[in-house]
Amino acid sequence: MLPWSRVNLIAAREAMRAHQELDIDVTKRVDPFAALEASGVLPMRQPLDHVAGLYIPGNGQDGSDPGALINVSHPLSKQRYTAAHELCHHRRDRAFIVDRDTEWLARADYSASDRERIAEVFAAWLLMPKKLVEATLDRLGLRSVQLDANSIYTLSLEFGTSYSATLHHLVGMRLVDRGRRDQLLRETPKIIKQRLGGIDALGDAWKDVWLLGPGNARREVEVATGDALVIEVPEIPSSGYVWEATGLPTGVFLLRHEFRPPDDTVLGGSGLHRFVLQVSESGTQQVRLAMRRPWQSQAPLREFTLRITAEPSPTPGLVLPGAVLAGAR
Ligand SMILES: [Zn+2]
Repeated sequence: MLPWSRVNLIAAREAMRAHQELDIDVTKRVDPFAALEASGVLPMRQPLDHVAGLYIPGNGQDGSDPGALINVSHPLSKQRYTAAHELCHHRRDRAFIVDRDTEWLARADYSASDRERIAEVFAAWLLMPKKLVEATLDRLGLRSVQLDANSIYTLSLEFGTSYSATLHHLVGMRLVDRGRRDQLLRETPKIIKQRLGGIDALGDAWKDVWLLGPGNARREVEVATGDALVIEVPEIPSSGYVWEATGLPTGVFLLRHEFRPPDDTVLGGSGLHRFVLQVSESGTQQVRLAMRRPWQSQAPLREFTLRITAEPSPTPGLVLPGAVLAGAR
């Protein structure tokens, strides 16, 4: 067995080569399905029994293309991780490989072959290259703060990776202390989503909750159909100005909105108006919130607009990368 540092180096270099050869923009979320397709591998989603993914090499005799099967019943972030893992098998191994599970970085007791250890770490580096991590930390204003569970969850949504895969990668990059890892692992995504205030909005516990608002510089977001958005905007009740959702497209539902008073009940203090929305349709849509005095018809004092691009729920069949979000790019 290779030492861990060697596995990490081989995998990181292989991922960097993949980014370069496939011309992947490493400042944006990486699409591993598009990377498979660009490498000549047909990505297919299928229900698979106790298998995360399969790599099927091409057949030189009958001229068939190589393929990767991804378990469609797994959460989207895991499907993406598995797709990235299979890309490594295509680049390095070219043998028929059944992956019972992926994202096992979390398990200390795991002792797999070097081939599998490299594929797992490759997947992390493919989806979370250093440049993407750094650019995202900057964009979210998290560069110089100690990362807590909420911010790691937010980063995982940005990268399209699971909370635990993200946490382990950040520990590997020394952006999170090894000593805090176990404590942060106990904060499950379910607890975090509950804290963000949107868990009840989710019909499916695997869907995600995005926390947005003026404090968070996001003006556009790429989500999955069924995800919830929690938008928090500052509001001073004594001013008479209130926020309302003035422009809601057909594919976005307002589940509820509520005013959250400031912790200290100082008169004139600023609280937060929280809107909980659910995205029910795929495609690109825009949500608009406006702050105005309800009894006056003049132009709003402030506005907040957010462009939402929602990926459809994955269904079994050939994955056509790029087709879904092409209009948004
Ligand atoms: Zn594998």
